[in-house]
Amino acid sequence: MKDDCIFCRIANGEIPAKTLYEDDKFRVILDQGPATKGHALIIPKEHYADLYELPEELAGEVMKLAKRMVIRMTEKLGCKGFNLVQNNGDLAGQTVFHFHMHMIPRYQADGQKIGWKPQEAAPEELEQTRAQIVD
Ligand code: 5GP
Ligand code: ZN
Repeated sequence: MKDDCIFCRIANGEIPAKTLYEDDKFRVILDQGPATKGHALIIPKEHYADLYELPEELAGEVMKLAKRMVIRMTEKLGCKGFNLVQNNGDLAGQTVFHFHMHMIPRYQADGQKIGWKPQEAAPEELEQTRAQIVD
């Protein structure tokens, strides 16, 4: 645990938060600045700054927990969809440098827009990118 990390302190119960779920590895809390009603965060109790640092096995457990939470919140809140968002690096919008997964319930006319602006990409450019990653 990192003493100067807000999510270490929340995940380990030192700072109070609205907890939806807790086990030995994770705490799930409501985001204090919710995009929509029920916006929640999955936070590992151990400190990993981001997805680069998160062990692969724990990454799998995050997604299993997300699935369980999404099903429960959909039943309880009556939302009509969900976005899972996970930011890595300040350029990507990460502001708290302790890995977390956002779970954002979506409702009719909720006023949120979570997405990106699609760009044009020629087939040769896509092929060059594919080769850069795979080869
Ligand atoms: P990021 O931009 O790093 O992906 O998301 C950080 C999120 O953590 C933001 O949505 C922000 O509202 C939330 N957050 C930051 N500090 C606290 C806190 O002390 N308590 C809670 N519940 N949420 C926090
Ligand atoms: Zn931390």
